Amino acid sequence: MRYVSIAAVDRPFDDVYISPHLDDVALSCGGRILSERALSRSVLVVTVFTADAGPCRNIPPRVRARVGEMEKRRREDERAMERLGVDFLWLGYPEAIFRDRVYHTLYGAFSRMATSDHDVIARLASEFHELLKRVRPQRVYWPLGVGHHADHRVVFEAGVRVAEGIASRGSREGSGRSADAPSLSLALSECGNGPDLYFYEDAPYALIPHLVEHRLDMVRARSLQEHTLESCSIWARTRDAYAAMMSLASVRAEVGRWAWRAAAYGFLLVHFARGRRAQRRASPRLWLVPELCEIGKVLPHKLDILAEYGSQIAPVLGDLHSYVRLRLAYSQRLATLALGHVLSGIPRDPESAWESQCRSPEGTPCLEDRPTSGVFERVWRIVRINREIPETSPAIHREGVQDQDSDALGRGCGRSRGETFPGVHSTIFPASAEAATVSGLAR
Ligand SMILES: [Zn+2]
Repeated sequence: MRYVSIAAVDRPFDDVYISPHLDDVALSCGGRILSERALSRSVLVVTVFTADAGPCRNIPPRVRARVGEMEKRRREDERAMERLGVDFLWLGYPEAIFRDRVYHTLYGAFSRMATSDHDVIARLASEFHELLKRVRPQRVYWPLGVGHHADHRVVFEAGVRVAEGIASRGSREGSGRSADAPSLSLALSECGNGPDLYFYEDAPYALIPHLVEHRLDMVRARSLQEHTLESCSIWARTRDAYAAMMSLASVRAEVGRWAWRAAAYGFLLVHFARGRRAQRRASPRLWLVPELCEIGKVLPHKLDILAEYGSQIAPVLGDLHSYVRLRLAYSQRLATLALGHVLSGIPRDPESAWESQCRSPEGTPCLEDRPTSGVFERVWRIVRINREIPETSPAIHREGVQDQDSDALGRGCGRSRGETFPGVHSTIFPASAEAATVSGLAR
């Protein structure tokens, strides 16, 4: 059933999933949710950005078209939630382009943070806190923010604030340490009967090679199982990520000209280099443990449900075949890394239902003859958090670098000017090339 407000939620749930947009949780965690529902766990999905409009009114038609018809998207989400067997709640916040003109360029949407969004983060954190008090879940899942879309980063930062609050409380109750000391490293494991807190990997961005590692670098998160991450040069990261992105028809259509392709390649290279430097330069903010969920058995059901989001799948991925191909290739990489020889000896089930769906329109198996060891979704459990607000925090840091474009964009919606996301400078490549790089994966 759908709850109309947080105040209307009148029962506890085992698991709470926070979705920035009307499709993120289904794309990223649909298999995990189906598996949990099969074990009779109760699930509440809370979607944040579901409003028809916001403070920004004069939105160019081509920008407005990126968001689609909200009413149609809500109906799609309603059907998908019912088929997942979960209860759900829409918080009614406006998406990025409705909040601030800074987000009207794709460069802005994926690289900047409107000043006014600091208030949104604070408000959201407060609402999440209220929600968790009512629902008393065992587990809560927030987006990790892979792909750096502004809406995902806002929800991520609100999630970190809630985690800091829970960790502080747990620390006070558990060990008697003062939670007011600066730079205090707080363990979530000391939180008694508080919920386990997780970040999920945002699909489809997370399915592109190395974007998860890059996001962990950028938010200065450290895996307590380093071997579960792909470690390679920034050149190799760029090559792999570029190849995967260009395999999507939606990206190829945007990055058509050779000059833009070269710029896109360089854009990725610069991003990966800056992420690597951010990780090396400062102490970690978050310590995380990865957890894999095998979803092979429920993948056909998940794909059926994803098909409900027809208005979103086509512009972002082209079709569901692309999603399956990326998900399987991603799972193959995870299996090789995390489980290595243990799973490599397990043959894939030739009768498995998903295999028949992993075919191109011509009938060619997407993975050709490569063996697969399973299909996975991955989440990251927070085990320790540094309460100090780091200098390079993407949501809070005021770098002061503003280009003329953002000054111009800042007028009109009036309330705020964008802040440059650390590690991104629009002077390196033309915004159009950067926009082309990400537009195929927009939202
Ligand atoms: Zn999204």
